[in-house]
Amino acid sequence: MYPARFEYHAPTSVDEALALLERYGDEGKVLAGGQSLIPLMKLRFASPGALVDVNRIQGLDTLEEGPEGLTIGPLVRHRDCERSQTLRGRYGVLADAAPQISDPIVRNLGTVAGSLAHADPQGDWGSALLAAGAEVEATGPSGTRTIGLDDLFQGPFTTSLEPTELVTAVRVPDPGPRAGGTYLKLERKVGDFATVGVAVHVSFANGTVGRAGIALTAVGPRSIRATAAEEALAGATLDDDTIRHAAELAAQAAEPRSDHRGTADYKRSVVRVFTERGLRKAAAAAREEER
Ligand SMILES: Cc1cc2nc3c(=O)[nH]c(=O)nc-3n(C[C@H](O)[C@H](O)[C@H](O)COP(=O)(O)OP(=O)(O)OC[C@H]3O[C@@H](n4cnc5c(N)ncnc54)[C@H](O)[C@@H]3O)c2cc1C
Repeated sequence: MYPARFEYHAPTSVDEALALLERYGDEGKVLAGGQSLIPLMKLRFASPGALVDVNRIQGLDTLEEGPEGLTIGPLVRHRDCERSQTLRGRYGVLADAAPQISDPIVRNLGTVAGSLAHADPQGDWGSALLAAGAEVEATGPSGTRTIGLDDLFQGPFTTSLEPTELVTAVRVPDPGPRAGGTYLKLERKVGDFATVGVAVHVSFANGTVGRAGIALTAVGPRSIRATAAEEALAGATLDDDTIRHAAELAAQAAEPRSDHRGTADYKRSVVRVFTERGLRKAAAAAREEER
């Protein structure tokens, strides 16, 4: 099916894009990689009156590390993350998530910011970046605000972004000198959306866990933070008992539903196993970083 009629604009500056978004209000949509929006338009699940294609704006594709952490520009593609050396090691949760997203075509075009704005509960970046404690910088007619991902994700395909706002950066805080993480994804075949995904990101301080981030993909109406598990880990030594306890709490945080990908019990059990595995891998990665 063809999309419904729409106006197309390709601004060359953020100011121009913002003016267009303000002009069209609810009728306007940002077009980034188009890997979610275009299929929705073709199926007529979305029929925006105007597309504001941001791909011709220079300088939005920066992926860089500074003293405060990572900045991921709104045109950073999944592929850029997959190839980035910066994401390896302390940001391993992001490095491990990137190559598991779909196939090379989608990864070449799809953006990190677009994935967050799309807010698919099966999206891999949602939980990977929740675990990493990321925030988005959203710029609109009245300036720029920072939104934590807990507040960004409101429900399936729903965020707290205004239609007049553009995500102008995703920011990931520096996890400190000793940190590690991973993203584990169960998929029916390579390139599939997750049956279950678990993101683990741990910072260590003085031999114990400083901050732990654990977030879950595809087991609820939005990407879920396993807050009780994170709290159980903070300040603890990452021994077997602690890992098993945290994994149990993560499984309890999941809200899976039975579907063609598996039963709710099966998915909950995968969350438990992946959290255990992820914590062990994060601890090993942090030890490796220390060398
Ligand atoms: C076949 C296929 C398989 C896929 N498999 C996976 C998978 O396994 N895992 C996974 O995580 N994802 C998967 N995806 C989704 C893919 O990752 C998309 O790239 C991503 O969801 C959206 O990014 P995009 O840049 O393409 O956004 P677009 O499609 O351009 O936009 C998506 C939404 O975000 C909004 N938007 C985009 N950028 C901004 C911005 N800067 N500010 C404000 N709003 C913005 C748009 O207006 C739109 O509402 C798959 C997609 C396809 C087509």
